[in-house]
Amino acid sequence: MKLRAVVVGIPGVGKTTVVTKLVSGFKGAKLVNFGSLMLETGISMKFVKHRDELRKLPVEKQKKLQKAAAARIATMKEKLVVVDTHLFIRTPEGFWPGLPFDVVRAMKPTHLILVEASPYEIAQRRASDSTRYRDAATHESLMEELSLARSFLATSSTLTGAPMTVVKNTQGLQDEVAESLVKMLSGASK
Ligand code: AMP
Ligand code: MG
Repeated sequence: MKLRAVVVGIPGVGKTTVVTKLVSGFKGAKLVNFGSLMLETGISMKFVKHRDELRKLPVEKQKKLQKAAAARIATMKEKLVVVDTHLFIRTPEGFWPGLPFDVVRAMKPTHLILVEASPYEIAQRRASDSTRYRDAATHESLMEELSLARSFLATSSTLTGAPMTVVKNTQGLQDEVAESLVKMLSGASK
């Protein structure tokens, strides 16, 4: 069976590390970063220069890029496509869904995986990532985002009929987390 795992989590949970390990442990898997696809189109349309400018664009422009990215993902045919993306985006116009109905339907996920970490670890990772322009956060705002993520995850699961899994990416346990996901997906692909 062909699989499509949509992996989500708030910025700083260590999602990209987990999905990179996951894909390297699964033969025939392809990793797609949704934001990178949006960025490619965003740059060619001269909307932005850097990925952290995407979420500051007017939502209508972000929607165009989001739809284009989903349409590209819809054409991918690998045995396992792992999509690194977000359940919601903190925009100047409010929280905006990363997986609205048409977008999540186009991607046809078979599995929805939410990566979490403790607010302390998330704050540390955001502060030490010099490659990005991460939003600063308080303990309260991180707790709010973590809780919001679970609500959005349940909605995506209901919309698509795909099962949802929540994994805790504790510092130092990235390999174990990735391995458990490889095991789950290998079982599903039989
Ligand atoms: P990332 O590298 O995963 O943090 O993604 C970079 C940026 O891409 C995010 O900050 C968002 O602006 C955008 N992005 C990623 N996934 C989505 C999505 N599903 N819907 C809308 N924007 C997204
Ligand atoms: Mg990332």
